Amino acid sequence: MESTEPSFKRFVFIIVDGAPYEIFKALIENGDLPNIKKYVIDRGSLNKAVSVFPSTTGPAFIPFFMGLYPGTANIPGIRWLSKSELHAPHRFKRPGICSYMGIDGLHFEADLPLGSATLFDFFSPVSNIYNLLARGCPPSKNLTRWIKPFVYTYAHFSHRWRFVNQIAIRQLHKAAEAGDQFITCLFPAVDTFSHLTQTQSPQVLRTYREIDAAIGKLVDILQKANTLEETLILITSDHGMSDTHTHIDIPQHLDDGGWRCLHYPKIWRQDAVSASMVSGNGMVHLYFKNSSVEKGWGARVPFEKLYQMGVISSLIELEGLGLVVGQSETADIIVQSRNGQGRISCRSLDTNPENLQNSSTAFECKDALRFSYQFIGTDPLGYGVHYKNLSSREALRETYDTSYPDGIVQLWQIFNGDRTGDLVLSAESGYDLRARYEIPEHHATHGGLIAEHMHIPFATNYPIAEQCIRSVDVFPTVLNLCGHNVAEHQIDGRIIK
Ligand SMILES: [Zn+2]
Repeated sequence: MESTEPSFKRFVFIIVDGAPYEIFKALIENGDLPNIKKYVIDRGSLNKAVSVFPSTTGPAFIPFFMGLYPGTANIPGIRWLSKSELHAPHRFKRPGICSYMGIDGLHFEADLPLGSATLFDFFSPVSNIYNLLARGCPPSKNLTRWIKPFVYTYAHFSHRWRFVNQIAIRQLHKAAEAGDQFITCLFPAVDTFSHLTQTQSPQVLRTYREIDAAIGKLVDILQKANTLEETLILITSDHGMSDTHTHIDIPQHLDDGGWRCLHYPKIWRQDAVSASMVSGNGMVHLYFKNSSVEKGWGARVPFEKLYQMGVISSLIELEGLGLVVGQSETADIIVQSRNGQGRISCRSLDTNPENLQNSSTAFECKDALRFSYQFIGTDPLGYGVHYKNLSSREALRETYDTSYPDGIVQLWQIFNGDRTGDLVLSAESGYDLRARYEIPEHHATHGGLIAEHMHIPFATNYPIAEQCIRSVDVFPTVLNLCGHNVAEHQIDGRIIK
């Protein structure tokens, strides 16, 4: 069937930040998004895909543009701490603590792994609108690079995110008229209005309809240029959202337990022994100073030691905190909830020492990884099944429609980064993990491993039959549809058809 595959020449990539699959699908079915339905889904398909953990802007873009998990790329959150770089915090140097929400947003590309390609490397000319992962895009074609800091700051304080989206729409149409071969357009307003209000407030629903109208005009432009048939259109989202009724104060809880806690904005607190780095507000990295070392914060503290310290039992008593996850002394991943404990272990079938040693084949070996999952008590991930030796794809399929989609592989991948916390927390639906210093207050949450945050729409104007899709699969899949060979690239994703 290889010869019947299309080879698209142009690619328009629309990211609706914070659009959950279920809400997007309902809007399509109710006729609220007629242009997306007619010109994209009716010609192709609407699938449910899964994002990555943490399901938050920044880390969740890396799979799309590079085919890598956040753990592989070592960008495990929108905020993180590097224990190895935290020796001597200094105001004029990066202190080993990072928040891409602030000035560190400028460092995002520099923090990405060196030598890995992005989607921008495969097309010319390209253009980029608002997306922060623009490596490979010439600065002059990063259309919003000058205005983004100003309009985002203005909108943050004035709540005029509609204005920010309208700029995106204008730039999208201009880039299409100019004939750019690859256009990435991020619409931020569904996410920001959801945080300010709720996931289906009038402002949020109006934003979806405005994006739909923009797609109608885009199709019109492509048709007039006679390039609609050769253009691949993908509409997706980096993460879903859930409405929030209760904020959990993690730093306060650690302070109360005697583990004085660094957190944004109080990153210069003296004598801190723990740190809380929150993402999307539904997930947190927790770091603990490893007392066995005198200088710096030392290595990752294993789960067993944190258990002995009383940290685990202290955390799981918090109502609304769904999962407390750490790494065991044997490198297994331990998943703790109030009523049970699970254990994820991963081994390689590939026993050829040459393959294991040769780093250039490390990624090919990922197909040889086998995942097992056991639990005692009530299964914290709710699967209710003990799994043995699943391939990564089997683990995805088995857990796709559960409360923690792709939980086995997602919890494994995040611990591959050394900036990942000793513990990783995921909130239950309705809760978030930041109670103070979030101005304005957030009424919707993402970042967690729950289905509402993980399930994202995947709408293409070319039909995709595969039902189980990860966001890391986008990179190889769209490049394949555009006639590029991705076999040489060391990535986590695979081509889906
Ligand atoms: Zn957000």
